[in-house]
Amino acid sequence: MNEVSEANKISTKLHEIVEMRHLNESTFVVKLEKNNLEFQAGQHINVGPANSIHTREYSIYSGENDDFLEILVKEVSDGFISPVLKKQRPGNMLVVEEPVGYFSLPRKSNPGEKLLFIASGTGISPFHSFIKSNPGLDFTILHGIRDNSEKYDSDFYSSSRYIACTSRQKSDNSYFGRVTNYLEENPVLSNTRCYLCGNSSMIHDVYDILESQGVSSEMIHAEVYF
Ligand SMILES: Cc1cc2nc3c(=O)[nH]c(=O)nc-3n(C[C@H](O)[C@H](O)[C@H](O)COP(=O)(O)OP(=O)(O)OC[C@H]3O[C@@H](n4cnc5c(N)ncnc54)[C@H](O)[C@@H]3O)c2cc1C
Repeated sequence: MNEVSEANKISTKLHEIVEMRHLNESTFVVKLEKNNLEFQAGQHINVGPANSIHTREYSIYSGENDDFLEILVKEVSDGFISPVLKKQRPGNMLVVEEPVGYFSLPRKSNPGEKLLFIASGTGISPFHSFIKSNPGLDFTILHGIRDNSEKYDSDFYSSSRYIACTSRQKSDNSYFGRVTNYLEENPVLSNTRCYLCGNSSMIHDVYDILESQGVSSEMIHAEVYF
């Protein structure tokens, strides 16, 4: 490969940070130049600092048709990459790998099919992208969080479709308890297509509950973060 094409190859992987939007003490949205990167809502990208060989997976938060790229990141305090991402400033460059993954809506949507999106924490990110990319979806989001500070961009969702399940804070506009408690009290109809995203223990527990309520495994899609 000659020097010019090698340089082109590298430049297509570096994306400039346009904005850092801090949502609470630990969680932030990184807005990047899109550089014509195409993706399907629900896919994730590997992202890392420009001066490092290390990257981590992040679901794409922005919509397919947005002219920018966003990720929603929670800083893991003793983590290797997320604290470095948190310190970034607009103008810095990040390495962005090709979008990958199969956590996506059916290519041909079934008219009238009800969708249930169940997230823990930043696991809401691919659902934000689904909804931004596909206006008119008939969805409900169950968002498992500790307290109200983790209701990331909740104003974006119609209040009738967004249910925060807070495990450590009681408040008027949230269900007090875990998503698993909510599902046990509010059984899911077996023809609901369910998407689960976040930590593995939530996903395992929710999977079992949905199956016990008659939702078949073909109707359950999962993306495990850790
Ligand atoms: C497909 C996929 C998509 C992902 N999308 C996102 C996303 O959209 N937003 C996001 O914030 N993270 C996402 N993650 C997690 C992300 O890739 C990193 O694991 C996370 O940012 C920690 O990286 P680190 O280098 O700071 O920590 P590391 O040094 O790699 O790991 C430290 C420890 O933190 C654990 N950990 C990872 N994530 C969390 C978390 N959220 N809370 C508590 N502990 C955690 C790991 O299991 C590990 O034990 C995704 C992971 C996968 C596999």
